[in-house]
Parts: sequence; structure tokens; C-alpha cells
Amino acid sequence: VDCPRCSAHNPEMAHYCYRCGQDLRRADARSRRADSFAVQSAESVTQFALISTILPHTNRRTADSYRWAFLATSFLVLVLTFLGLIPAAVVAGAFLVPITYLVYLYDVNLWEDAPLPAVLALFVVTGLLSALVSLLFFRWAFHTQFAQFRAIGFRGTALAIPLDSLLVFAVLLPIVAEVVKNIGPLWLASRPKFDDMIDGLTFGIAAGTAYAAAESLVVFAPVLSQDVRTTAGISVWVPIVLNLMIVKPLIYGTATGIAVATFSGRGEGHDGFTSKYAANFAFAAGMNILYWLGIRLLSYVAFGQALGLLWGVAILAVLIIRARVLMHTALLETAVEDAANGRRSKAATTDGGFCPECEMPLLPDALFCIVCGESVRATSNAARRSIREPSPEGSA
Ligand SMILES: [Zn+2]
Ligand SMILES: [Zn+2]
Repeated sequence: VDCPRCSAHNPEMAHYCYRCGQDLRRADARSRRADSFAVQSAESVTQFALISTILPHTNRRTADSYRWAFLATSFLVLVLTFLGLIPAAVVAGAFLVPITYLVYLYDVNLWEDAPLPAVLALFVVTGLLSALVSLLFFRWAFHTQFAQFRAIGFRGTALAIPLDSLLVFAVLLPIVAEVVKNIGPLWLASRPKFDDMIDGLTFGIAAGTAYAAAESLVVFAPVLSQDVRTTAGISVWVPIVLNLMIVKPLIYGTATGIAVATFSGRGEGHDGFTSKYAANFAFAAGMNILYWLGIRLLSYVAFGQALGLLWGVAILAVLIIRARVLMHTALLETAVEDAANGRRSKAATTDGGFCPECEMPLLPDALFCIVCGESVRATSNAARRSIREPSPEGSA
């Protein structure tokens, strides 16, 4: 079968083109295979699937262990909250997402030659900058405005919404924070060895989660030092802990990931400060502003904390879908462009190996599995190594 899109010759049994990922069983040559996400071919592109979006280098098997790790630690944080051990819950929660992400980066061993130090530095630098910005906003410069939220916080009877507090903490702070979250990842993404779009996304997510952790610690520091052990107000604390410990870092991370991914751009090298980057930076900052406007305003109504949690999940869903469409389009379009220019793609297989997802043999020079359509580019380094050296002694 000749591919209608890139005209590569594929074997008769191929479901997907090995070069450009085109769905060969579909008549429409312009179809974007929306039912099969290039990073995780069993899922559709617009599915609210967290793991395959923020941990794109996992396959279905390793994704499961992360899913369980996430659920188990979230459960632990909830148990701590129910026991009234709020400080422990806050600390455990603040580090839940960033540590999971660090383990993931270590696990997939993405960049053999520049491994942990670069990523650790990214976490530390972004965390320190975040602590600085958070101290500046919450303690030093605008503490009176912040206190205005607190004063009428959980009452639900407030009629006057403090407009200047809202402007500072739901508009100005998210914009400043987005700039800070971008600094480290942009620097890394402009290095030639981290020029892949998935690298950019990964760095952005890492920085976003680090920022969220440091911010949570600064904001909740008063709670931590009081050594509160109380069961009063658990119904208020549970949604707060879930929202700020799990949903917030994921929102920060995905939003920044989207912006940095556009900075990386498709193909070799980084695209830099293009209008596309400006648009996606604005989108990232905008989603953060929407998130915080919702959280602050909803805290004035009945069940505001629970509604705030739902609001956060809705914002996260939009970000996840956006990130997936971005990656999916990039993986397919780059492959088509490479094929059209007769270029050999960087991540393509050299001679065969097996698909890490469905374990069927891969063709030489393949960018996609012809059976399940998985992108070879989105597999982990360990899996990629066994693709390049088809007979490993111990398969990962
Ligand atoms: Zn093709
Ligand atoms: Zn496959």
C-alpha cells in the first residue's frame, strides 16, 4: 500500500503508515486520526487522560504504575487530612506531584548525557524563584490585600468583593508567575540536545509543578508553624488540599508545558520567541488567571471550596486537551514534513526492533508502529535503546 499522504510504501497488513503515521484504513487522506493519539495510540486525542499527557514517555504498562503511585499518595494525603494532620497533609501534598515527576524523569532516562543535574537544577531554581515571588506577594508587598480575602474568607456572607486584592492575586500574580515558570525551561529548551517538542513540554511541566510546591509551602507556612491538629472544618480542608496539592500543580505544569513546547517547536532546533509562543504564553497565563478568579470568587458562595475544586478540574481538562492536540499534530506534521523533504527523522528506528506498546516488529526507518500507530518518538529512552539494538539481554 502506498501512503496517500507521504507516498511511502507500506506492507499490505499495515494499519498506519510507518513514516507519517497516517491511518491507511481510512479513505480520507487529510484525516488527523483523532481516535488514535500518537503518544498513546489506544486513546483518542481529545480524551481527558492525565498520565499519557504529562508523562508522554510512558507506555501502557509503566503508565499503570504511575497511575497507582498517584492514587496511593493522594489517598495518603486525604487520610492525613481526615485525621486532622493538616500540616503533614500540606507538606506531603505539596511534594506529591513534583516528586512523582522527578521519579518519572529519572525512570525514563530521557537524556543519557545530561541526566539528573539539569532537571534537579530546574526544580531547585524554579522553586527558589517561586518562593521569592510568593513571599513578595503574600507577605511583603501585598499582605494587606491578601488579608482581605482571609477576613471574609469562609463566611459566605460577604457582599463586597475586594477588587484590588482580586486584581493583585488573580491577575497580576498569575502573569508574573507564568514568566517565572518559563525562565528555567526556556533556557534548557534552547540547548540543542533538548530541542524536541516533547522535551519542552516536559521541562515546562516540571517547572510548573516545582513552582506550585514552593508557592503552597509559602502560603501555608502559618498553618505549618501552628501545629494544628484539628478535625474541625475537615469538609473545608479536603477540597482545599485536593485542589491546591493535586489540581493546582497540574494546571501550572500543563499550562507552562504548552508554552515551552511551542518555544521548542517542531523538528530540529528551537523555534524561539515566535508569535505562536506569544499566543500560547498568553493562553497559559490566561488559564491561570481564570483558575484563580474562579477560586477566589467561588470562595464567597456556599460550598465554594468544593465548587473551586470542580472549577480547577474543568480548567485542567481544557489544558490537557490542548496539550494533547499540540503534541499529536506536531508528531504527525513533523513526520510528513520530513518525508516530503526526503529527510531521515532523528528519532526513527535504524533497523527494526519491537513496538514498546503492542510488541509487534517495527520497520526499519520507522517513526510509527504500523500496527498500533504509536509514535516511536514518544517512547522512553530505555525502550528506544532496545529498538535500536533489537536483541537486548534483559528487556526493560
Ligand atoms: Zn505516510
Ligand atoms: Zn505498536
